[in-house]
Amino acid sequence: MPVSPPKTAKKTVSAEAKLAKLGLHTDMDLVLHLPMRYEDETQVITIEEARLHGGDTSQVEGIVVKNEIAFKPRRQLLVHISDGTGDLQLRFMNFYGSQVKQLAEGTRVRARGELKHGFFGAEMVHPAYKVVNEGAPLPTSLTPVYPSGEGLSQPVLRKAIGEAMKRVDWTDTLPPSLRAELQLSDLEPAVKLLHYPPQQVDEHALLDRSHPAWTRVKFDELLAQQLSLKRAQRARRAKGSPPLTKVGALSRDLQAVLPFKLTGAQQRVLTEISADLRQPYPMQRLLQGDVGSGKTVVSALAAAQAIDSGYQAALMAPTEILAEQHFRKIAAWMEPLGVKVAWLTGSLKKKEKQAAYDMIESGEARLVVGTHALLQEVVTFSNLGLSIVDEQHRFGVGQRLTLRNKGNEGAVPHQLMMSATPIPRTLAMTYYADLEVSVIDELPPGRSPIVTRAIDQNRRDEVIERVHAAAQEGRQIYWVCPLIEESEALQLQTATDTHALLAEALPDLNVGLVHGRMKPAEKQVVMDAFTANEMHVLVATTVIEVGVDVPNASLMVIEHAERFGLSQLHQLRGRVGRGSAASVCLLLYQSPLGQIAKQRLMTMRETTDGFEIARRDLEIRGPGEFLGARQSGQAMLRFADLETDAWLVDQARDVAHDLLHANTPEKAATVEAHLARWLGGREEFLKV
Ligand code: ADP
Ligand code: MG
Repeated sequence: MPVSPPKTAKKTVSAEAKLAKLGLHTDMDLVLHLPMRYEDETQVITIEEARLHGGDTSQVEGIVVKNEIAFKPRRQLLVHISDGTGDLQLRFMNFYGSQVKQLAEGTRVRARGELKHGFFGAEMVHPAYKVVNEGAPLPTSLTPVYPSGEGLSQPVLRKAIGEAMKRVDWTDTLPPSLRAELQLSDLEPAVKLLHYPPQQVDEHALLDRSHPAWTRVKFDELLAQQLSLKRAQRARRAKGSPPLTKVGALSRDLQAVLPFKLTGAQQRVLTEISADLRQPYPMQRLLQGDVGSGKTVVSALAAAQAIDSGYQAALMAPTEILAEQHFRKIAAWMEPLGVKVAWLTGSLKKKEKQAAYDMIESGEARLVVGTHALLQEVVTFSNLGLSIVDEQHRFGVGQRLTLRNKGNEGAVPHQLMMSATPIPRTLAMTYYADLEVSVIDELPPGRSPIVTRAIDQNRRDEVIERVHAAAQEGRQIYWVCPLIEESEALQLQTATDTHALLAEALPDLNVGLVHGRMKPAEKQVVMDAFTANEMHVLVATTVIEVGVDVPNASLMVIEHAERFGLSQLHQLRGRVGRGSAASVCLLLYQSPLGQIAKQRLMTMRETTDGFEIARRDLEIRGPGEFLGARQSGQAMLRFADLETDAWLVDQARDVAHDLLHANTPEKAATVEAHLARWLGGREEFLKV
């Protein structure tokens, strides 16, 4: 029975539809769909030479001298070609009937592939080939290989792109003076070179994208991004916000009752925030600071400025434990100063909730602290002037927007976002749309460094002894249970088992347990006991990951540390080292360790600097995964690399600034043309 390869569905998807799936709608889209690599079809060598080169990819040309279908060991098409210097077998395991005819004896064929010396002599398996006439010209440029999608072959893509190149409007969006100043190539020759590089091109520079043609394309891409960011910023500034101009009694009194002095870094970021709050347009600022750097007090002082100016402030945290901790701390500071602080979370009783809603709506509550319960529609503020989002990366863009929309009559509250997951500066500036960044780069004084050690799981007994010794010295201990992503039930089981085991091994100690499935009130009882130093050891799942602050805890044990990500380990470890006692973090691991896990644990041992950890994390994972697709405008950047092209980012930022501020019709036209070419419909990535 004649076998033919599987036929594709009768009515195939049109080429246009397939191109559209890759985001290629317009001619310019196609033109900017650049090759990921190239094939060199510019040369033909003799079969004799090719046989000498064996193993390399080469292109030969010959006449078919024999064409047969063999059945051993399986059905295959064998085509012998000869060019007078030698002969060669082309072997096809999958082939169409039409190919048998196409490669009939006497046909001239050009074949390109890896030459192997097999049992039956020299051969190429599944070479790329073309039937040609004698003397058919060779291409003079390298052949592009494009990123493609399902069912979209290279020839179809090449043809579509080639045609688009002829039709497209090549007008350079950058004025000649600018190109000259920045020594940028012109767009048309740059793009053409990237699609069809001449034979003698520096192929290495093409592949690592350091070629000047790439520089031009990357610059254009980055410029479009910067222009669009800055325009979003302008749009924000066109919105009205209450200017919070008064730093008054509350701010002063609050600073006076604090049990410590602000660090220089806290003072500096507070000044930055305070200046933003005075503006009549919404602040949108990210406050970054490593775990334990003291962001909470900065946010409380920002809230005080809002309250002093006659407005309300809201502080939202991602977990109930964290929100409650903020509430207690801040209420303890503010209520004695006569400021009513409301507390709102999903677990409140119906009556309590209603009471909170009423206080918020009447304006009696000047500050509201809570979880995402704050986002509910029923929550209406009397006059919200500032919303603060702690651990902002834990919230979605939509949630942050909801809080921003809780102002009065279109007045947008100022927004302060906080994060201990440090984002390298270039990333923050280019990935987050329209965001100012303040960084606390100094820890409060008197912290002793945390010593971190990785220990094989089978030395658990020694670790338990160590826990015992620490408790005898009056220290408190966190014992974090393994993360089991696949099963919450299993994770819970492990936590309960670990708790039982430790309670048994340490009969003279009070060992507590806290996990995500407990009711908020139950959690609170445990946390309170631990905070009050009535409990020696707290066995916990990752619920303690963010924000928990018990300065007397100085030993942290993390089980199956190899299962955690770097930033998670860093967050967990940040629960200790908050007091003056020397702190220790023990990372228990199960051997053998994989390569990435090994790298992570090594990083944890080597540094406690959150920014350095973030940088290495970025190295291990890449920016897309690092930020999470939802927050990143990664679809925006296809060509430029923020690390290696940082200098271009700077240039693009300066040029964008100049173009937008010059206010001449020519420059305005440049901006429009450039954005239209590069972003088309993609600007929505930058809206938040
Ligand atoms: P994070 O930035 O991780 O949110 P916190 O705001 O929870 O850090 O602060 C960590 C601890 O440091 C808290 O116990 C806080 O009271 C304390 N703290 C904050 N600022 C200072 C300071 N300037 N001097 C001493 N301790 C401080
Ligand atoms: Mg915090």
